Amino acid sequence: MWILLLMAFLPMRSQQTDEKQIKDIYDTALSDGKAYDWLNYLTNQIGGRLSGSVQAEQAVDYTKKMLGDLELDKVWLQPVMVPKWVRGTPAFAYMETEPGHTTNFPVCALGGSVGTPLGGVKAPIIEVHGFEELAALGREKIDGKIVFYNRPMKPTLINTFEAYSGSVDQRYEGAEQAARFGAVGVLVRSMNLRLDDYPHAGAMSYGDTPVQKRIPAAAISTNGAELLSTTLKLNPDIKFYFKQNCRQLEDVPSFNVIGEIRGSTRPDEIMVVGGHLDSWDLGQGAHDDGAGCVQSMEVLRLLRKTGYQPRHTIRVVLFMNEENGLKGAEEYAKVAREKGEKHIFALESDAGGFTPRGFSFDCSDADFQQIQEWKPLFAPYLIHLFDRGESGADVEPLKENGAPGLVLAGLRPDSQRYFDHHHAENDTFEYVNKRELELGAATMASLIYLMDKYGLPTTPVSNEN
Ligand SMILES: [Zn+2]
Repeated sequence: MWILLLMAFLPMRSQQTDEKQIKDIYDTALSDGKAYDWLNYLTNQIGGRLSGSVQAEQAVDYTKKMLGDLELDKVWLQPVMVPKWVRGTPAFAYMETEPGHTTNFPVCALGGSVGTPLGGVKAPIIEVHGFEELAALGREKIDGKIVFYNRPMKPTLINTFEAYSGSVDQRYEGAEQAARFGAVGVLVRSMNLRLDDYPHAGAMSYGDTPVQKRIPAAAISTNGAELLSTTLKLNPDIKFYFKQNCRQLEDVPSFNVIGEIRGSTRPDEIMVVGGHLDSWDLGQGAHDDGAGCVQSMEVLRLLRKTGYQPRHTIRVVLFMNEENGLKGAEEYAKVAREKGEKHIFALESDAGGFTPRGFSFDCSDADFQQIQEWKPLFAPYLIHLFDRGESGADVEPLKENGAPGLVLAGLRPDSQRYFDHHHAENDTFEYVNKRELELGAATMASLIYLMDKYGLPTTPVSNEN
């Protein structure tokens, strides 16, 4: 009888404890948060942090110092070699409707692209919407021309990352595909759902195209793409000109920045929370992914501030080189494998610093069932989205270590405005809302707290206080 009463009482007490701890986390983030100040420095004082740049190294020094102030058990730098691609002077482009009549367009070189010849490229331009259409046109129609990829992101998809996935092949492998048919350059409609004048950068790849056959690739703003498309319909014989002097240099040394709170009862089981410290260079890397970095740092600070002592080791990792190589993430996973470290959970924030909606989980059915039982604890903070799917590019390589029971997750903020800023000049501090950023950090910290306290069916925590 007493046992039964006790058993009925315990979960309730535990639930109240959880509600209180989570409220404490949110209260602390919203009234005494540090994430926004850190982001201010990272963006306004340091700026865009392309791998191998001076700014990327400044960001390493700065975040290491900030983590050092948090009284964690350990803070260190993990060396990693990263690619160094430099943009050079800003790209320049125009269309020529007839000799001497030109209109300039906002363009930028895509990350990893080769430059144009010194005098630029000038050629007829042909619009396509995908690789099938390109192949159907074939060498006969493509040879000697610039290929203009103009398939927009799908506006009807509520999750804008799905719209991104549905269009980004044009940017990533557009040059490789077009070169097969003799194209002399490619121009890609920016991955942006909005019509505006910002060209959006982002990585591209030549696959196994031999060096001498690589053609330059640039992004054009969405307004530019619309104007060019309309003009081409009226006059298919126009010429397009662009010039860029970007280039790939030798790899250079850099670092992942890491800090941890050592677990009280399970120090050898590691939970990672992270984002990527590098960014594209046109803006300040505020949403992508300065926000995710400062939120991840804030998670450890919030656990400390609210007096929570984790059972597992909680580690923040600021990964270098997500944007154009993923070398930091690969190195982190490799070192973990070599050291035989056991990772049981990894949470990434790399979808912007907007209002958090929930998480996407990459886990087993049993794990997901338990995670869903925590949903009511998040309801007061309007966190409702507990989805299954991809987590984040930087934590994914941990899966290859073959860790049984490893659960991955990604923070899922509202995504409607993300691609207005993604990889563009306007990914700046002023577009990050302080409270939205803080809510994201508190949401992440709350999940880490629950994961740490209860574990999951595949890695349970039992008989421990
Ligand atoms: Zn990112």
